[in-house]
Amino acid sequence: MKPTPHGPSCLGSFNTLAQSGTDKMAIIQGNGSDLANAKALQGRSKRKLISQSLMLSMVDSCMKYGTPEMKKAYWNTYHCQNRIITANGRIYGKYCKNRHCTLCCANRKADIINRYLPVISQWPEPYFVTLTIKAVPHRRLRDVMQNITEEFRQIVETYRKRHQRGKGQKLMGIRSLESNFNPQRRTYNPHFHVIVANKEMADILVKEWFERSNPGWTYRKAQKAERVYDNQRAIIEVVKYGSKIFTEPDVNKKAQAKGKEVMYVKALSNIFAAMKGLRIFDRFGFNLPKAEVKRQDARVVTDYQDWHYDMAKYDWINDKGERLSDYTPGASLLWLLGERVDVQLE
Ligand SMILES: [Zn+2]
Repeated sequence: MKPTPHGPSCLGSFNTLAQSGTDKMAIIQGNGSDLANAKALQGRSKRKLISQSLMLSMVDSCMKYGTPEMKKAYWNTYHCQNRIITANGRIYGKYCKNRHCTLCCANRKADIINRYLPVISQWPEPYFVTLTIKAVPHRRLRDVMQNITEEFRQIVETYRKRHQRGKGQKLMGIRSLESNFNPQRRTYNPHFHVIVANKEMADILVKEWFERSNPGWTYRKAQKAERVYDNQRAIIEVVKYGSKIFTEPDVNKKAQAKGKEVMYVKALSNIFAAMKGLRIFDRFGFNLPKAEVKRQDARVVTDYQDWHYDMAKYDWINDKGERLSDYTPGASLLWLLGERVDVQLE
């Protein structure tokens, strides 16, 4: 994959100006995304459909279970990229930038991959490490997430200081905090996915993680360290961003769960709430090289098209009634979104 310009500027945003008569004008910023990339466009449509339908359930859940403080954020995400414009073969949108937004997360993932892949590709033997802890009920989730984030920070800090004193190597890598929901046990499993630069770092992490945890909270065998051979795939694994949207009802029978997944809205909402203010993705022990690509400055366009999202048509529509992506969801996705939504279980 060829690195492309990155940072928030790669998203491509716009603002329309007051219009008089037939003159119209918009200010665009950033590079936008390629209108000719049909696959990416269909992916965007699919994410928009999933996101919008999830947000309606999230708002519903907020009202039912008394977490109104999240309601506004969910509505913002519902409206994310409701309107987009196309100009000079590129797409520009308005982004909600929320963590629970599948559209914005997809952008963030692409951005992280572009920025970190060149660095990680230069590491001699990258290792993928999974650090887990015993699953907990909802009421303990936030505490545990805060604790393990602090624990991880301390491990990195200890080795950084030792390294400064000339004793051993520091730890260097990227990590993400994630949690999935187990509907059978009604528990959450906060865990880290980490890529470090070599085996020694991976072994240190696993050893420290196990030794520092309270007895019974971590199982040695559940802490994994594996050599990475496909850097891009490993990074994608790390930047899944937070949680899965569709969960197998029986986590032990993943293989048989095709088409049986459920969207556990209340549980997802709990995970997002627990992660509030915590860094989901982080790097440690190294800095990224300065971006060589200059961000595109704001500029005015007069020749552009307006598109509005129409959920009933699963697509963005212009004033002539034309569709932008021509995306049609599969029957199984529609069924999942319509029938496999649980707003109660947590
Ligand atoms: Zn968004």
